[in-house]
Amino acid sequence: MDAYVHVRGLSKAFPVRRGVGQVLRGEHPVVHAVRDLDFDIAQGETVGLLGESGCGKTTTGRLLLKLVEPTSGTARIGTRELAGLKGAALRDFRRDVQFVFQNPFDALNPRIQIGRSLAEPLINAGVPKAEHADRIRLVLERVRIKGVELLERFPHEMSGGQLQRIVLARALVLEPRFIVADEPVSMLDVSVRAGILNLMRDLQDSLGLTAIYISHDLALVRYVARRTMVMYLGSLVEDGPTEDVISRPLHPYTRALIAAVPLPRVSQTRDPLPLRPGTPDARKVGAGCAFVNRCPVAIAACTAERPPLVTLPGGRRVACHLMPAATQPRPPVTLSPA
Ligand code: SF4
Repeated sequence: MDAYVHVRGLSKAFPVRRGVGQVLRGEHPVVHAVRDLDFDIAQGETVGLLGESGCGKTTTGRLLLKLVEPTSGTARIGTRELAGLKGAALRDFRRDVQFVFQNPFDALNPRIQIGRSLAEPLINAGVPKAEHADRIRLVLERVRIKGVELLERFPHEMSGGQLQRIVLARALVLEPRFIVADEPVSMLDVSVRAGILNLMRDLQDSLGLTAIYISHDLALVRYVARRTMVMYLGSLVEDGPTEDVISRPLHPYTRALIAAVPLPRVSQTRDPLPLRPGTPDARKVGAGCAFVNRCPVAIAACTAERPPLVTLPGGRRVACHLMPAATQPRPPVTLSPA
């Protein structure tokens, strides 16, 4: 079966502010936010995109929704190639894809009532006005919000949990087929996060949505996604079933990431991999592996050549020169029953 999301060689570089010396030398430095992404996502699949701040997760989501244009590479969502989409085709595409923003307090216009915020996507998509009330009623049921009087409130009159449900409703009112959720609960109180995540999981199942959850939070990704892709400084470094990635992380960065995070129901007798001191800096990525300055097991080839993302027996994908040899010696982490 064809993938619903099909990405090949997708890259995005942003220009950075030039220093005086660079201006004098006529240089135009760029930072590579995303480099050569290759991945497929099946229809109805939920994938977690995991990595620390600045690793390119959000840029990847924005590229997939055509909110920014790639520097190179291709992406296809459903049957639509994103390159060259414009006019009516772009408007149709925008109905089928939606972004769920990180901060519900910023995602809604504070000066307009909730009802108007929900109607806006319908107006912009040219949905006949006669359908608006039914569509809004249905989507409020879906996000489990009761009371049409809420439609007359302004965002500041609602709680964070209610607002995130409205943000979800706004994303779903056009009945999209693909959503990108960017840290969807990170700004909410812990007490309401589980409710929103459960709701999102239920909606995905009932509506058959294809989804990417962008997060730095391993526990969140584990909760919502059966498959996880790990990014580091713009590159995909590991991709596989979430429980496999957690119980047997293969890439040195993933190993360090997993070992650093306490997870419920995962034995803490994990294989720690202390990183070399250093901070990730996308401006300093050279010709080799982006992780080389922090990797404790780097070899000479790592500074000279970028490791390709290779598919291992069983389907896991890892970008490391030590693969597949590094997969052999370590026993799996024990997962206790859910
Ligand atoms: Fe470490 Fe080299 Fe593997 Fe990069 S390619 S993760 S530097 S061993």
